[in-house]
Amino acid sequence: MKFIKKLFCFFFIKICSKNAKKNNNNVNNVNLNNELNNSGNLNNDFDLYEKLLSHQVFGICIKCNKPNSHYYWCKDCYSKKFQQNFGNWTSKNVYVDNFIRELQLKARNRFELLEWVPYDRLRNIKFLAQGGFSTVYEAIWLDGLIDSWDYRKNVWKREVDELNVSHEDSNNSKIKNPLKSNEKYGYYVVLKSLNDSSNMNDHFLNEWRLHLECQYKVASSGSTLAPLIGITQDPETLNYMIVMAKLPFGSLRDNLLIKRYNPNDKFHNLLLISTQLEAIHKLNLVHGDFHSGNLLCHDHELITISDLGLCRLVNHDYHKKNEIYGILPYMAPEVLRGKSYTKAADIYSFGIIMWEMTSGIPAFHNVPHDLSLSLNVCRGIRPEIMEGTNPEYAELMKRCWDNDPEKRPTANELKRIFLKWAEIYPMEEDEKNRKPVPKNETDVECYQKSYYTSRKIQHSDRLNAIFAQIELSNKIIINENNGNHDNEIIMSDNLADCVIEG
Ligand SMILES: [Zn+2]
Repeated sequence: MKFIKKLFCFFFIKICSKNAKKNNNNVNNVNLNNELNNSGNLNNDFDLYEKLLSHQVFGICIKCNKPNSHYYWCKDCYSKKFQQNFGNWTSKNVYVDNFIRELQLKARNRFELLEWVPYDRLRNIKFLAQGGFSTVYEAIWLDGLIDSWDYRKNVWKREVDELNVSHEDSNNSKIKNPLKSNEKYGYYVVLKSLNDSSNMNDHFLNEWRLHLECQYKVASSGSTLAPLIGITQDPETLNYMIVMAKLPFGSLRDNLLIKRYNPNDKFHNLLLISTQLEAIHKLNLVHGDFHSGNLLCHDHELITISDLGLCRLVNHDYHKKNEIYGILPYMAPEVLRGKSYTKAADIYSFGIIMWEMTSGIPAFHNVPHDLSLSLNVCRGIRPEIMEGTNPEYAELMKRCWDNDPEKRPTANELKRIFLKWAEIYPMEEDEKNRKPVPKNETDVECYQKSYYTSRKIQHSDRLNAIFAQIELSNKIIINENNGNHDNEIIMSDNLADCVIEG
């Protein structure tokens, strides 16, 4: 119970309601605690938020006297505020406008809405990374995230930070829209430019709608996905960009070495990840591209899943049969062999992430991500269990990455197990006692043919052909065309015990 309470507090108190901490007048903490203590078996419960709403734990709206839908948030009153403002902005695309409006009308809290973000309100736009289906930038949004309505000034109160940026950046040609010297406040964001998205239509927006649906479901279980906060459009490429909050700790992959030196963190991180994954699976969806670069850290403990379906809709080829996308080390053997993606394939990726939590480095970082690795994964080769790994943890990890998808645990089972472990292994909350990242180990050197952004995996047919051949021959020769690994020989003896359904 204690941990559910803590998990709940993260979403509702730590992330969403900094203000609630400052001023508790409007927050019914007694009801909150009672509800949490009386909720019974919450392990299985996806209506926590609804229960809390019905118990009025978020206080009463000062305008309409009805229960708030979140701290300082009255869904009914705020949706009217949004509606009154519909005429004052437009994306110049009817689908995008309608999408944003629809969300604004039903938002129960500040993380369930999107805003149209005019590109000219963004500053210091800087290239960050090239993904398989999108280009990622970081930027500063001058206006900042909506917090609540200021009834005195009749405007939205917004969350902005005092900017700690030197203005010499303005001379850097790699930065678009440099910050002006009088601009001192803003909100750090990440922009994901979706390739070929200039002709945005309803079909295209479906995937974002999906993310928001998952957000609702995840919120109901007391957690959160990485929140989307708006949409903007690059005036040069005309590509649409999704605007997301830039989380202070970056991705889990960025934080791997921190995890390595604070071993109990992983139980807490994985509890949150499994909770979010369970919500996604409950909607009968699969993430489909689950890896440590898609897990974003708010701090040592709070971690959120991102990139849910966002990157894949853009490339319509994705929907063609037999085309597989992902990062090879996280991909389940059956997916590598061209079978469709399932919940069990997400669980396989979860197992690889579990391993990464113990090693501090991405799986298979020292080998090329090619046909040979795929073949080895299908043979049952997995990352080597790190010395000192808790045996129960190692067993669970092995179940997650079992070659047989049927033998892998469900997200619900994972959540239950991590809930128990998180209680047994508390986090080191005192910042002073946390071990720092050793400076000389911050960069993990990866093999030059290791890829950690999603890409098309094109060798399923060859992989299947090889497995068919294994049955006929004692020795096979693989010609890997895309590299220097010609004539790699794999003895059938090693493969003999590998039984894979065709
Ligand atoms: Zn109200």
